[in-house]
Amino acid sequence: MRIGVLALQGAFLEHEQMLGQLGADCVELRQRSDLRGIDALVLPGGESTVQGKLLRELDMLHPLRASIQDGMPVLATCAGLILLAQEISGGEAPHLGTLPVRVRRNAYGRQLGSFETVAPLKGIGDFRMTFIRAPYVEAAGPGAEVLAEVDGRIVAVRAGHQLALAFHPEMGTDDRVHRAFLDMI
Ligand code: GLN
Repeated sequence: MRIGVLALQGAFLEHEQMLGQLGADCVELRQRSDLRGIDALVLPGGESTVQGKLLRELDMLHPLRASIQDGMPVLATCAGLILLAQEISGGEAPHLGTLPVRVRRNAYGRQLGSFETVAPLKGIGDFRMTFIRAPYVEAAGPGAEVLAEVDGRIVAVRAGHQLALAFHPEMGTDDRVHRAFLDMI
């Protein structure tokens, strides 16, 4: 089983390390030809506008979207959640647009740009969540199950084979989200 980790920009290395420690085989996705032969996908945090632009320039957006629509399991964190969302608040055009949610970017304001909290994550239990200029889910459409909320805002959803989190489970040592993702594949 090979997991493709989008490695155009952002915090991809931490995902690779965590998945590697769990025995998974990761490949870095930097160009279209890297997409061949992968069984699952990780979309890391970073800057979604930059990642979206690069995906378009490198002609990777359409093949990735098609793979996800065909059922490829995806773990998306932070900017990755924004890439997956069908709708981005404020009129920004969606990127992959496969996840039935509306997200709001940089949603916690300047003072709360980054913070940590512990909250229950469905199927896993209490989890330390690190938010970095994070988005949240304003509306989850049919088919998107809410897995976690912080201060009444949705921060984790699952829609079938797509698992998307506003926080960064790859930071720190708790690998339960990545284990759950491997179980999904
Ligand atoms: N603020 C970033 C964006 O809008 C997301 C932040 C992150 O991935 N840590 O794309």
